[in-house]
Amino acid sequence: MTRRRADDDPRDELRVTSPKEYAAGVPAVAHAMEYALSHTSPRRTALTLLNLNQTEGIDCPGCAWPDPQHRHKNEYCENGAKHVTDEATTRRVTRELFAAHSVAELGAKSDMWLNEQGRLTEPMVKRAGATHYEPIGWDEALQLVADELRGLGSPDEAMFYTSGRVSNEAAFLLQLMARSYGTNNLPDCSNMCHESSGSGLGESLGIGKGSVSLDDIHAADLIFVVGQNPGTNHPRMLSALEETKRNGGTIVAVNPLPEAGLKRFKNPQRPSGVIGRGTVIADQFLKIRPGGDLALFQMLNRLLLEAEASAPGAVLDHDYIARNCIGFEEFAADVRTVAWDDVLAATGLERAEIEEVHRRVLESKSIIVCWAMGLTQHKHGVPTIQEIVNFLLLRGNLGRAGAGVCPVRGHSNVQGDRTMGIWERMPQRFLDALETEFGFTPPTAHGYDSVDGVRAMRDGRASVFVGVAGNFVRAMSDSDVTEQALRSCRLTVQISTKLNHSHTVCGETAIILPTLGRSDRDVQATGEQFVTVEDSMSEVHQSRGRLEPASSSLLSEVAILCRLARRLLGTGNPIPWESFEGDYGLIRDRIARVVPGFEDFNTRVAHPGGFRLPNPVNEGVFPTPSGKAVFTRNALESLPTPPGHLVLQSLRSHDQWNTIPYAMNDRYRGIHDARRVVLVNPDDLADLGIADQELVDIVSVWTDGTERRAEGFRAVGYPAARGSAASYYPETNVLVPLDSVAAVSNTPTSKGVIVRLERRAP
Ligand code: SF4
Repeated sequence: MTRRRADDDPRDELRVTSPKEYAAGVPAVAHAMEYALSHTSPRRTALTLLNLNQTEGIDCPGCAWPDPQHRHKNEYCENGAKHVTDEATTRRVTRELFAAHSVAELGAKSDMWLNEQGRLTEPMVKRAGATHYEPIGWDEALQLVADELRGLGSPDEAMFYTSGRVSNEAAFLLQLMARSYGTNNLPDCSNMCHESSGSGLGESLGIGKGSVSLDDIHAADLIFVVGQNPGTNHPRMLSALEETKRNGGTIVAVNPLPEAGLKRFKNPQRPSGVIGRGTVIADQFLKIRPGGDLALFQMLNRLLLEAEASAPGAVLDHDYIARNCIGFEEFAADVRTVAWDDVLAATGLERAEIEEVHRRVLESKSIIVCWAMGLTQHKHGVPTIQEIVNFLLLRGNLGRAGAGVCPVRGHSNVQGDRTMGIWERMPQRFLDALETEFGFTPPTAHGYDSVDGVRAMRDGRASVFVGVAGNFVRAMSDSDVTEQALRSCRLTVQISTKLNHSHTVCGETAIILPTLGRSDRDVQATGEQFVTVEDSMSEVHQSRGRLEPASSSLLSEVAILCRLARRLLGTGNPIPWESFEGDYGLIRDRIARVVPGFEDFNTRVAHPGGFRLPNPVNEGVFPTPSGKAVFTRNALESLPTPPGHLVLQSLRSHDQWNTIPYAMNDRYRGIHDARRVVLVNPDDLADLGIADQELVDIVSVWTDGTERRAEGFRAVGYPAARGSAASYYPETNVLVPLDSVAAVSNTPTSKGVIVRLERRAP
C-alpha cells in the first residue's frame, strides 16, 4: 500500500490502473494486515481480530451484515479488520495536540489526517471566543451541557443525533433522556441512507425492515443485487452469495459501475479462493443509468402480467395475492401501460437484457431483492422500493424460504437504534409503552430528522447539537449550509472515539466527550459489561470489547448518557440512571418491557449468537392500516439529463469507512494517490471533449437555476454506464443542496445529481 501524508493536496499525484476483476483473495488479507500492524501492536491486532464477530466477541462496527451460525476463527473481511484495528490503534490524541493546533488549523486538515491522530483521551472544551480546545473535567463538562439544555426556551431547541455505531443500550437511553427532557428531535444517520427503505417498506408491508435471513440468501433461486457494492461496503455478503451459487442459485447485479465484488469473489478461506479463480458472482450484469431502477422493475412487472395473460395461472401467485394483498387491479392497470421506449431511455439498457432477466425470473421459484444506497438516495427512492415490493408480491416471494426483501444496511447498529426508539416520529404505541414503564408523558409532536435539523439550526430554531458517535458535518449533504448551521449553535457536543471534522465545526462553545469503542473492555460498578446490536437481518446479539481502554479517563456511551441525564433531569427524576450505568442488564430489562420482540431479553441474548426478532411479514401478517400488503401505483420517474450533462452519484472508495478515508486509494477501481477524481465512461468523455485525467470542476445544476461547484477533479475514463459519473463523498456533498431530498423519506439525493464538467485551465 502506498502511504502518503494525509494533508497533502492529492490532485497531481493520481495514478490509474485497471479496475480489479475480483474482490478479496490474498491481497485483501495482506492489505488488512498491513493496515492493522501500521496502526496497532501485533498483540492488540491478534486480540482484536480473533475476537471479531465471534459469539462472545466484538461485533464488527464495519457494516450490518449478519454473522453465520457456524463461525470461522477469522470471521471478518479486509474492511472489517481495518475498521476495528483503526479503533484499536495505539496512537493517542492528547491535550498537547489541541494546544498545538487551533480549531481553525484542525479544520484545515484532511479527514484522513484527523483520523490518523488516534484515539481521544480526555474531555475537551472550546470556550466561547477561544481559538483552541482545552481540557475540562467530566463533571464540569456534563454540567455545562446540562445547564445549556436547561436554559433553552424549549427542549425542541436541542437535537440529539446518533450514528449507527451506538449500541442498543445507549440508543435506548438516549431517546429516553431526550423524551424525558421533552423533545423528539432524534435525527440519525439512517436519515441519510436507508430512510427510503423504511418509508417504502413501511407503507407497502407495514414494517420497514428486511424479511430474509442468511439461510434465505443461501436458498434463493435468484437474487437481485441492486444499487449496491458489496465488495467494499458489506464484504462478507460475498461469502453468502458464493453459497447461493454453490447451491445452484443465480445472481443478477444492477448497478451503474461494474464493481469488482459484483464480478468475482476469491474467498480467502477456501483453497479455490487462494489459488483458484474464485466464484463468479453476477450471472448477468445490468449496467443501468443511475435512477433507472424504478423503470426496470416496472417493466419486469409488466412482463410478468403479460406472461400471465399468455399462460393464465402459471405465472402469478393468485392465492397469495388474494389472501394477503390489496390494490392489485389498480396497480396492474397502471403497469400495463409502461412503455418500452420510456424504460429503455430511463435505464440505458437494451431490451434484450431486460427480457433475459425476465426469463430468469420465470425460471425462479424463490427470489430475493437486495439493495442499498444506489436506490434510496434518489428523489424517487421510495417508489422504487415499493415497485420492488410489487415485483415480489406478484409471485408470492415473501414469507417463504429463499424469498423476500433485503435492504442491506451500512452501519452496524443503525437498524437496532431505530428499533430502540431513535426516530423523530416513533409510533404512539411506543410512546405509550415508555409512559407506562417510566411514568412520564413523552412529547408527541414529531421532531427533526437530519435535514430538518440542519434547517432548524440554520434558521435559529435549534441551538444545541449533541452528537452521539458519527461525523455529522461530513455525512450530511450541502456541506456549507450544514457547517454554517452548526457554527450558529450556542453549544455543540460530540461524543466520539476519534477526532473528525465535526469537532472542528464548533458552536459558540464546543465540547468533545471521549468514549469507549466497541473493542474496549467496559467495566462498571457491577463488573464487566457487554452491549447488544441488531444486524440487517434482525439478529440481536452481544458485543463485548477485550482491549484495555485507550485512556483511563474514558467513559462508556451509557455512562456519559446516564450522568448527563441525572444532571439534566434533576435528582427528582424517577428513572434509575445510576443503576443503569452500573448494570446494563437493568437497561435490557426495561427494553424488554417497552420494545416488542425483546421479551426476556437478558436470557435470550445470553445464548450464543443471540436471537432473531420476528418479522410479521413472514407470518403473512402485515401491520398496515388495512392489514394487507399494498400494491402501489408508481409513476415512472427517471433523471433526464440535458445535452452535455451527466448523472453523478457519490460513493465511497474501497479504502474508506463511511466519511473517513483510510488511504488515498480506491484499490478495486484502480485509483491511487488521489480522491478528487470523477469516473466517467470514456465515450462520454470523448463526446464532452474532455481528455482522460484532464482537470475539471464538477458543476451541479438544479431546477431552480442555481449551480454548485466542486473544484479541481481529474476526469478518469472508467467503464461506467453511459451518461453517468461517480465521485467520492464527502468531497462531493457540496454539490447537493439541503432541499434536494427524496419524496417522503427526506433523504438527500446524493445518487442522482445532474452535473456538467467544466475544464479548468492547466
Ligand atoms: S462484512 Fe461488514 S460486519 Fe462483516 S467483517 Fe466486513 S465490515 Fe465487518
